[in-house]
Amino acid sequence: MKQKPSKAILINLLVFISSLVFTEFLNAQNRIIKAGHLFDSRTGKMLIDQIIIIKDGKILESGSNLKYQSTDSVIDLSNSWVLPGLMDCHVHITMNFNYKNWSYVQLYTTESSSLRALRGAYVAEQFLMGGFTTIKDIGNDANYATADIIKAIKKGWIKGPTIYYSGKIIGPYGGQTSGINIENEHLWNFEYIDADNPDEIRKAIRKNIYYGANVIKLVSGQQDGYYDIEDITAAVDEAKKSGKKVTVHVQGGISARNVILGGAAAIEHGFELDDDLLHLMKEKGTFLVGTDVGYDSNIAWGLDSISARTREIRCIDRLKRAYKIGVKMAYGTDLVIDEPGMNRLQVSLKILKTWKSAEIPPSYILQTMTIYAAELLGCENSRGVLEKSYWADIIALKNNPLEDIEAIKSVHFVMKEGKVMRQE
Ligand SMILES: [Zn+2]
Repeated sequence: MKQKPSKAILINLLVFISSLVFTEFLNAQNRIIKAGHLFDSRTGKMLIDQIIIIKDGKILESGSNLKYQSTDSVIDLSNSWVLPGLMDCHVHITMNFNYKNWSYVQLYTTESSSLRALRGAYVAEQFLMGGFTTIKDIGNDANYATADIIKAIKKGWIKGPTIYYSGKIIGPYGGQTSGINIENEHLWNFEYIDADNPDEIRKAIRKNIYYGANVIKLVSGQQDGYYDIEDITAAVDEAKKSGKKVTVHVQGGISARNVILGGAAAIEHGFELDDDLLHLMKEKGTFLVGTDVGYDSNIAWGLDSISARTREIRCIDRLKRAYKIGVKMAYGTDLVIDEPGMNRLQVSLKILKTWKSAEIPPSYILQTMTIYAAELLGCENSRGVLEKSYWADIIALKNNPLEDIEAIKSVHFVMKEGKVMRQE
């Protein structure tokens, strides 16, 4: 006959189980970050003496005077400026043109997709270690080289940011190339998909998604033609079926108007946007990823000094007007030429000079690199702010970026999804 366990045994068992649970709780060490200054990307303000509690890669809690366990592992950033990981919404990590001597043909015929992937891996790590925990790689990556970089990062073979990725650029016949002879027709298909009507655009989008794209990039208004509103609308509709957004390389005029009215999420570059178009973008909620390159980068493209200065002034002016009108903006650089003695991240950060010349407040620039970029990328509920349940993408600077935005070059700590990538 079975005997019932006595009350004393039950109580002992309960105490034992409770102690196990408590020990387990203590052993479940959280990561604690003590932030002397913490950038609140929602308000653009710097908060003082904050604590971030991190568990399983995500933020458990963030605020002042938070209690934590003595067993937790503490990272002391009391003397630093702590920010959400930065985002660059326009990069081409696998691509490099020769300084002052660029050529698509030279690039396509001398660099394989595997070489391109190796460069991309190298550049991806530069961005991550420089504080950019998320990037949008927006085409020109040979035969889907970036798709393999993303896989390698996920497998832990290499270190890199979270990458939003477009696959091949979809454009009217010829992509962004010109002057290729008929014997070499389709040379550009190394990096572009020809799509000249809504059906071809839909097919191109499906192909890109199949090979790993999670954002759709079109080019319009190049020498090879521009898209009508119906073309853009078809792209937006097809992308939307799988929750993806459309972004378009376009400069201005009728092609930009079609992009805005067709419902694209963003305009890339937009160097020739007039005030009417900027107002239309504001009304429709279209983002501007301005890629406002400065003098040195224009020289790198082979421009003479007068043309380089003229283009820089045009960028500063358009950036000023877009800010004044209140167009949504996300930070993007678009540097594809390494300058002598500088790596890709260093040349990309030169773009900060243009933002400074346009007198955009540092707090706003940081927002375009965090919360606004996250909104454009569609990760506004998981990245871009340092709040409960967001990924712990966190960086720390030695200097105050609200005094000088170039302080983002003083990164000494990088955490991606709760894992420390750099600590000095
Ligand atoms: Zn670009």
